Amino acid sequence: MLLKTEGFVLRNKKYAETDSLLTIFTRKLGKINAIAKGVQRPKSTMMAGVQPFCYSDFVLYRGKSLYTVSQCEPKEIFYKIREDIKKLSYGAYVVELVDAVANEGQTNNRLFNLLGKILYLLTKSEIEIEIDTIIRSYELHFLNYSGFKPEFDQCVNCGKKQSPHWRFSPQEGGILCNHCLQQDPYSMRISDMTLRLAKYLQSKDIIEVQKLKVNKSLNDALKKLLKQYIMVHINKYDFKSMELADKMSLNS
Ligand SMILES: [Zn+2]
Repeated sequence: MLLKTEGFVLRNKKYAETDSLLTIFTRKLGKINAIAKGVQRPKSTMMAGVQPFCYSDFVLYRGKSLYTVSQCEPKEIFYKIREDIKKLSYGAYVVELVDAVANEGQTNNRLFNLLGKILYLLTKSEIEIEIDTIIRSYELHFLNYSGFKPEFDQCVNCGKKQSPHWRFSPQEGGILCNHCLQQDPYSMRISDMTLRLAKYLQSKDIIEVQKLKVNKSLNDALKKLLKQYIMVHINKYDFKSMELADKMSLNS
């Protein structure tokens, strides 16, 4: 049976002589593995659409254990991400996060659309500070759409909305008020400004914040909290690309 779906190529590994094993995040089937036969040949008509980050229309054949790509037409290849080492490291990071939470048979339209938006933004943005902001926005929306939304609106333990100061607890899943600090001895300091930024980014679409200029120390403060949060909750994630993206932003 042939199935048609659009999808993003998360990974492309050489498989046998001229074939590739693709990991594709599809709209209709969730994350799947598929063999693309002959795509390593220079004249393959499918070569363009099976590269990492590509957004393509696929026609798939379902075999016993794997899908086979029968046709592939690129819709958007996001070539600029692969041209620039820094964008490439961020691209690898956002794709790896999706790879860590997506499963076969589980569709996730909001995550699918978010991945499209961040790849589009990475392709066009030029200024570092914008990239940092959209990556924070991406992390927050990614966590929300994959079922791990951090709570920034009220104390995650007692529900209080007011507190003279707050702590952030990755383990507990959000902020703790001054009465509930003892819930997590490893909770992290979160300033009012960082908290406001987190709430703002959570409430806005990623496309809306692309021009938002956030100063570096504020962005770094949120980055540190989210990194810890992702490490606690996204346990399949191995962090190689996160470390690379970190290095890239230090070298800028
Ligand atoms: Zn509380």
